[in-house]
Amino acid sequence: MIETFYIKTYGCAMNYADANSVRNLLKKYNLKELKNWQKADIVILVTCSIRQQAEDKVSGWGIKAQKSQFEDKTVVVTGCMAQRYDRKTDLTSKKYQNQLLDRFPWIDYIINIKDIKQLPKILNLGNKELVENSNIFYDESNIYQGLFSTSYGCNNFCSYCIVPYARGKLVNYPKEEILNDIKEFVKNGGKLITLLGQNVNSWKQEDETFTDLLKEVESIEGEFWINFLSSHPRDFSDELIELITTHDKFLKHCNIAVQSGSDRILEMMNRQYKAQRFIEICKKIKEKSPQFRITTDAIVGFPTESEEDFNKTLALLKECDIEMVYIGKYSPREGTTASKLEDNVPLKIKKQREKKLRDAVNEIRSKKHSNLVGKEIPILMISPSRGISYYSHEVITEKKYEPGHIYNLEVKDYSRSGLKC
Ligand code: SF4
Repeated sequence: MIETFYIKTYGCAMNYADANSVRNLLKKYNLKELKNWQKADIVILVTCSIRQQAEDKVSGWGIKAQKSQFEDKTVVVTGCMAQRYDRKTDLTSKKYQNQLLDRFPWIDYIINIKDIKQLPKILNLGNKELVENSNIFYDESNIYQGLFSTSYGCNNFCSYCIVPYARGKLVNYPKEEILNDIKEFVKNGGKLITLLGQNVNSWKQEDETFTDLLKEVESIEGEFWINFLSSHPRDFSDELIELITTHDKFLKHCNIAVQSGSDRILEMMNRQYKAQRFIEICKKIKEKSPQFRITTDAIVGFPTESEEDFNKTLALLKECDIEMVYIGKYSPREGTTASKLEDNVPLKIKKQREKKLRDAVNEIRSKKHSNLVGKEIPILMISPSRGISYYSHEVITEKKYEPGHIYNLEVKDYSRSGLKC
């Protein structure tokens, strides 16, 4: 009889959101989650294929375990390895799955995350509770914050990125499903809704856009905040700017991935916009909502990136008042178009450029944080002394407050990572 499960998650925030989906789905069938895989009846691996290393970790996990340890359990593989398209060997997902099953006989099922609602049926869990139309997309251990995937995969084929190969083509989840999940989350006391997608603002359903979806989320009754990750400049419309800057339920924060300030490099990256587009978006946002925080992603040391190209990125971050940047030092990913180019920026230079970007952005952030000292800002408490500000700062409080409530608190101090109230 199946009573317990264990989940091991590899990779990015999307995978952690997916792992939560699986977790909550199984909990609805009264299955108990264990921290020790050896004692669990079902072992779920939410896998990542972004790098070879990530796949090796999964293989290594199985190889280390004794064959006999799998005899009384069911091992399910989902996530990127379950739907990978391998360009080099030209293996489509199904063929690749069969190859995985041959290599790792301890795997019982490989299930595409899109089909994960079929898992109870596949595992024969019976009808303990029907999951049709029920929310599986939030973590019950933190009822105030919910992650909601709006799509899966990506069609953009940025030249450095493996996601379109690892996760496959973009599939937008139906609006009704997303809204039903959010409604149930809010009904159960949820306060912060984060919509997730590799390129979240490209969501579409017939003639409805991501802005239309957000409007419907906003119209759900209740007191809650909304944000979304991560946005592509090409799809950041004026309607979206108008909505998030002027409507109260939206956090005044956005992560918009620019990657480079050089048009030449952006073209080589196949990003499909020019640096000026990003600058315009930031200007429009700040005109409407001056306190709005904008963060971004940037890659340093893309093949052929010159000092001049890099300086354009540095200047762009300063011009746009970017408060935080997730920096990737370029490294080739096998199978991508950029991997055919010579990785010709030395690591030493990549590190120097990374430091310069970080220093510039840290300076902007410190200035912004210090300007907030003495001011009151809305904070949503997640635990008695930890919260999230209306501008998406991480907050630590001196006094204790009731989780799940929003308070106007005075900023007393700040650190690199957040605010103290
Ligand atoms: S939009 Fe993002 S996920 Fe899609 S290919 Fe480009 S970098 Fe990768």
